[in-house]
Amino acid sequence: MSEGKPARLKTFQFPCREDNYGVVLHDPESGLAISIDAPEEEPIIDVLEAKRIKLTHILTTHHHGDHVAANESLKAAYGCEIIGPADERDRIPGIDRVAGHGDSLELNGHRIEVIGTPGHTLGHVAYYFPDQGMVFAADSLFALGCGRIFEGDGPMMHMALQRLAALPDATKVYAGHEYTLANARFAVTIDPENDALLARAKEIELLRDEGTPTLPTTIELEKKTNPFLRAADPAIREHLGMTGATDAEVFTEIRARKDRF
Ligand code: ZN
Ligand code: FE
Repeated sequence: MSEGKPARLKTFQFPCREDNYGVVLHDPESGLAISIDAPEEEPIIDVLEAKRIKLTHILTTHHHGDHVAANESLKAAYGCEIIGPADERDRIPGIDRVAGHGDSLELNGHRIEVIGTPGHTLGHVAYYFPDQGMVFAADSLFALGCGRIFEGDGPMMHMALQRLAALPDATKVYAGHEYTLANARFAVTIDPENDALLARAKEIELLRDEGTPTLPTTIELEKKTNPFLRAADPAIREHLGMTGATDAEVFTEIRARKDRF
């Protein structure tokens, strides 16, 4: 293989199930074809057939049914390898290889860094493609939101999101669900004076009226507008009456308010 940057991966994002997104990544040169999670068989196969792609890998983020439903049928159809979180290996159908925080994978010359993002589930991981400037955050970081905490706790989820916030600003963030409209309506109750957020919330109303996806987003945009990445912000702390609290405490309060919203 020649030195230098690997080819740009073609990225196909498509809605599936109720409000999930599927993503297929393809490198026509090497044949690498990755499905990020496997929410639903038919829409994934439709994309693969339309683009004449043979699936080689599934990267699983966590064990929930809406992320692993098509693992076994896709593996039967394509013989693809399934890579998933080490801490959830017993709950990922068809898993062949485990990946944990800090692991670096190389698939056909493409580097993928595994970032542990626990909180939604204890073993949840995100997959970061440094050469592509993309991260697949599934149900950890959403546009203007974050995943519900089912298995972890507030400080754990806060730590997970801070790991993602530390990625380069221009990183494109793909997430598991189109929850952005509801997230925006909540976000403005936490950060009502944030002009960048107010402008984005308006734009999101328009995009969703047209049925346009609001993802991918970027790390930079989320740091400016997503209250779950802004626990250190003085205006938010003031608004919540938590000026003396830790960032993790502020985050946990925001998450609790979203659960009641
Ligand atoms: Zn989930
Ligand atoms: Fe999900």
